[in-house]
Amino acid sequence: MIPSDIISKKREGKALNNNELNKFFNGYLSGSITDAQMSALLMAIYFNGMTNNETVTLLDIMVKSGSVMNFNNSSGYVADKHSTGGVGDKISLILAPLMAASGLKIPMIAGRALGFTGGTIDKIESIPGINIFPSLKTFKSWVINNGCAIVSQSNEICPADKTIYSLRNQTGTVPSLPLICSSILSKKIAEGIDGLVMDIKVGNGAFMKTKDQAISLGRLIKNIGTSYGINTDIVFSSMDQPLGRFAGLACEVKESIRCLKGDGPIDIMTLTFELGTKLLLQAGLAKNKNSALKKLKSLINSKKALKHFKSMVVLQGGQLENFESITTPKYEKLIHSNKEGIINFMNTETIGWALIELGCGYSNPKDVLDYTAGIEFFKKIGEEIKNKQPIYRIFNSDLNRLENASKILSRTFDIGKNIKKNKLIL
Ligand code: URA
Repeated sequence: MIPSDIISKKREGKALNNNELNKFFNGYLSGSITDAQMSALLMAIYFNGMTNNETVTLLDIMVKSGSVMNFNNSSGYVADKHSTGGVGDKISLILAPLMAASGLKIPMIAGRALGFTGGTIDKIESIPGINIFPSLKTFKSWVINNGCAIVSQSNEICPADKTIYSLRNQTGTVPSLPLICSSILSKKIAEGIDGLVMDIKVGNGAFMKTKDQAISLGRLIKNIGTSYGINTDIVFSSMDQPLGRFAGLACEVKESIRCLKGDGPIDIMTLTFELGTKLLLQAGLAKNKNSALKKLKSLINSKKALKHFKSMVVLQGGQLENFESITTPKYEKLIHSNKEGIINFMNTETIGWALIELGCGYSNPKDVLDYTAGIEFFKKIGEEIKNKQPIYRIFNSDLNRLENASKILSRTFDIGKNIKKNKLIL
């Protein structure tokens, strides 16, 4: 097999056979295919797509690169939620303990920041001491004992996704349907779950900019997920503005804790309940949507979900005692409006890139993140603002980067007279 022949074949828009895909991807994992060759193939896939057969073959290679978990001997419906990525999307940090409190088992394998979108693993790593690389055995014991745990892909679980994910991030090859589908489903299949709810983001802060692209991805994930025996529900949600009032690293963990205390913004709670309802119905733990919703709300109000979040952090070695002081940013700056009116547009992707500049994501894989960094959104779409009133508060611990991000952010909103507000759940 000559690697450049395979790259050329995909470059010409032809489908690769199982043997070619196996040789190329397994060759990459064993070191005989270089980063340069894999990057070129990823770009060819980005431009030419993959057939369903190619996507399933790639997914299979990725699943088999590591172990697959098995919860056969434990009680409880084993399930998970995954999102295609957005800005301020902290739902996983709230939903995992909420579902654990409902009696489900959630073995969540999450990812780092990808492109302009934030990563659950980076956010949870802002908690000092937290272990997101446990052995498979330890991960399983956390899930069985507490109902949920959040970990990263590792050398044992989804190693192929771990390396290819990072390479896609470096090479601008993230927004590809077959690559997103195989990346997400390889993690979910490795978890050994019975059920999955997918939050497919659509809008200017998502990889899927149009409803048509989102529907195609939803169909692909539903069909392939179901063929692997996973009950798969799809929710489409708007990413035309950040979720909640904060985006960043530690600040998103803090906002999640406020949500678990019953003090969460309406958009975050609405989406959390929508996704949670689907899982409760799948698990047979609620008769209908209303009773599921009632149950989820009572688990927030009674602080039972918060208790599961705290015990998850403790089990994973994290310390929340000095979290506030350790993650206090050194610098902050306000971004002001230049006229009076109603916010009618937010460029969410550019806000995401400003977050990377602040220190919340990766320009290069070795970048060190600034856990104190983030943005507070004082105003969002549909809200009134006065001339010279602050719209954002940005913060981090590196003054140069704060200034750079502030220049980017001054161009990320539009103020008008009319409201053009999309529904959150589409
Ligand atoms: N989330 C993932 O896990 N993978 C992707 O490719 C995109 C979002």
